[in-house]
Amino acid sequence: MTKLDAMVRLLFWIALIAAAFWFWRKFKSPEAPRRDNSLDSPLKMVRCAQCGVHLPKDRAITRGGNWYCSQAHLEKGPDERQR
Ligand SMILES: [Zn+2]
Repeated sequence: MTKLDAMVRLLFWIALIAAAFWFWRKFKSPEAPRRDNSLDSPLKMVRCAQCGVHLPKDRAITRGGNWYCSQAHLEKGPDERQR
């Protein structure tokens, strides 16, 4: 085995490992979804079905497809009069 063969082999393995690593990162990336979901999630506003106030989704309570600002309004249920 010549010196050149050894070098070509080494480069081949480095390229292969780099490609494997790139693929691994590409397919693993959904576990750290910073870029794609940044527009969508963290502070989505929802409307209280009882009083109509808007509040962040993570502070709202949901039941039966409706959102509520508080436990009291959840118990009252959706406001029927205003619709
Ligand atoms: Zn409310």
